Amino acid sequence: MTEHEKSEKTSSTSDQKYHKRRRKVLLVIAILFLLLFPVISETYFRCAICSMLHTRWRIMGLGLPLHSWKQPVESSDWYQTNIEAKHQHVWVQTGYLEGKTFYGLKTLMLQESSLSTGPFVYLSLGNTGQMRIYQKSSDPKEARKIFLRLAHNEPYGSDAYKEQLEIWRRLNEWMESRMEDPWPFETQ
Ligand SMILES: [Zn+2]
Repeated sequence: MTEHEKSEKTSSTSDQKYHKRRRKVLLVIAILFLLLFPVISETYFRCAICSMLHTRWRIMGLGLPLHSWKQPVESSDWYQTNIEAKHQHVWVQTGYLEGKTFYGLKTLMLQESSLSTGPFVYLSLGNTGQMRIYQKSSDPKEARKIFLRLAHNEPYGSDAYKEQLEIWRRLNEWMESRMEDPWPFETQ
């Protein structure tokens, strides 16, 4: 074998090695992407009328809907039986989002107030809170109106926004009194 042939052989072997290494790196990146990169965003909603929970899966970044489901709680069952047999749910998004990988593994958790679509979700209601408010309020129909006032975000700083803050504050204070104080809103 001449010197020239020897050097060509060495160079083709190092080329092969380079391509092999490159393939390995790409494979590792692809595996890491599948294992770690969140491709599904999971967002959470609560109905402003009955407290039913609702979860939505979308393709991260594109917002395309993938899957969604509802989860009744004690308040929503009670509302359906005692107040309205049927109603159109008014979904209010919470400020929390989870990112899931292709395989459903949670790799991202985000708490961001700008995600929330109404102050209603900041009332600590749990599974039974809204039901107890309806029961203790002077009139469930009035309480329903109050909840709907908190179901969306009024423009920051506007008069409507200030009114909304006031409603939220009064409702919270009343809840802190274990709902023993008189209902803090005028009954019309
Ligand atoms: Zn509802």
